[in-house]
Amino acid sequence: MGSRFQMPMTIRCYECGNVFDVVLVDKDSHDYPCAACGKVEVFDLGAWETKAIAWNEKMITKRGGGR
Ligand SMILES: [Zn+2]
Repeated sequence: MGSRFQMPMTIRCYECGNVFDVVLVDKDSHDYPCAACGKVEVFDLGAWETKAIAWNEKMITKRGGGR
């Protein structure tokens, strides 16, 4: 029990373009081997999160607020 961090994520292999799903369980970097070609994709959630927040703020600004 407790606050276990879990986040489903789709990763695209840069080597062969295969798309596969993973579940991130904490904010450390992790290695995810591609099921198709075996290339290990390193996914850094901390860096991704920073990028996602910046992107999100850009979208909000773009919409200009309100419906
Ligand atoms: Zn691959």
